[in-house]
Amino acid sequence: MEVRIPSPLIELADERLTRHGLTLLVKRDDLIHPDLPGNKWRKLRDNLAEAARRDQGTLLTFGGAYSNHIRAVAAAGHHCGLRTIGVIRGEEHLPLNPSLEYAVARGMHLTYLDRTAYRVKHTAPIIDELRDRWGDFYLIPEGGSNEFAVRGCAELPAEIGVGFDVICTPVGTGGTLAGIAAGLAPHQRAVGFSVLRGAEFLDGQVEELQQRAYGRRLGRWTIVHSYHGGGYAKTTPELDQFIVDFRRRHGVPLDRIYTGKMMLGILAEAAAGAFTPGTRIVAVITGAGLSS
Ligand SMILES: *Cc1c(COP(=O)(O)O)cnc(C)c1O
Repeated sequence: MEVRIPSPLIELADERLTRHGLTLLVKRDDLIHPDLPGNKWRKLRDNLAEAARRDQGTLLTFGGAYSNHIRAVAAAGHHCGLRTIGVIRGEEHLPLNPSLEYAVARGMHLTYLDRTAYRVKHTAPIIDELRDRWGDFYLIPEGGSNEFAVRGCAELPAEIGVGFDVICTPVGTGGTLAGIAAGLAPHQRAVGFSVLRGAEFLDGQVEELQQRAYGRRLGRWTIVHSYHGGGYAKTTPELDQFIVDFRRRHGVPLDRIYTGKMMLGILAEAAAGAFTPGTRIVAVITGAGLSS
């Protein structure tokens, strides 16, 4: 698979930051691959290698009906000649939405779990039932966040060939932040912007992912919880306008679920004086505006 690594790094001149003495660079991970953009490629790469090492011809994973991760696993399976099974939260709705239609077009088999069962999806009774029905598989957890994903994302900071102080990423399940923070130099820090409402559990989840990948907490990182815009996949007129305006100013497409909320958060934090003048900030554009 042809991927664009290192992904492009571009400096943006935005007076909302320069007026505070701040420099903003964007790491265009959305340009890594059209079907597997951004952190999804970084998170899946070593999982695909591990599935191959275990001689496993089937990938099974979980996600919501609009999940970028489900799309990415379907695309990866299609590229690598692997059978894919997507276990979707909730009931089937026909016709399929564009995300699920895309997954099916890439050969993914879909199956559904009601919300109660979905909450305990990673427990033995559910997994055993899925094995009875589909045969053996390589399991990728919801959102793709496991130790292989974390170690894949940890390679990102070293791709940035210039000096920086702070690196920002959106946070869904936290695998991307866990990896990026682990790849930092001691004087650098990572700031994650949660896209979920009331998701203080994410701090523990990121720490646990680092424990699983490295046996300890690594790097300086924090999660900011105030820019979820009402909750996962919720949007506000302010956010929608911000995304349109940002694209007009800089030609960079942000999505409504993840990167738009992060960028709005960075500007708001800058306006509130959260970054000292002279700080060089890298914002990771973790994916394309597909899901908007
Ligand atoms: C999936 C996704 C994320 C979330 O990454 P986590 O590792 O789950 O925190 C962030 N941005 C985009 C664009 C995504 O598709």
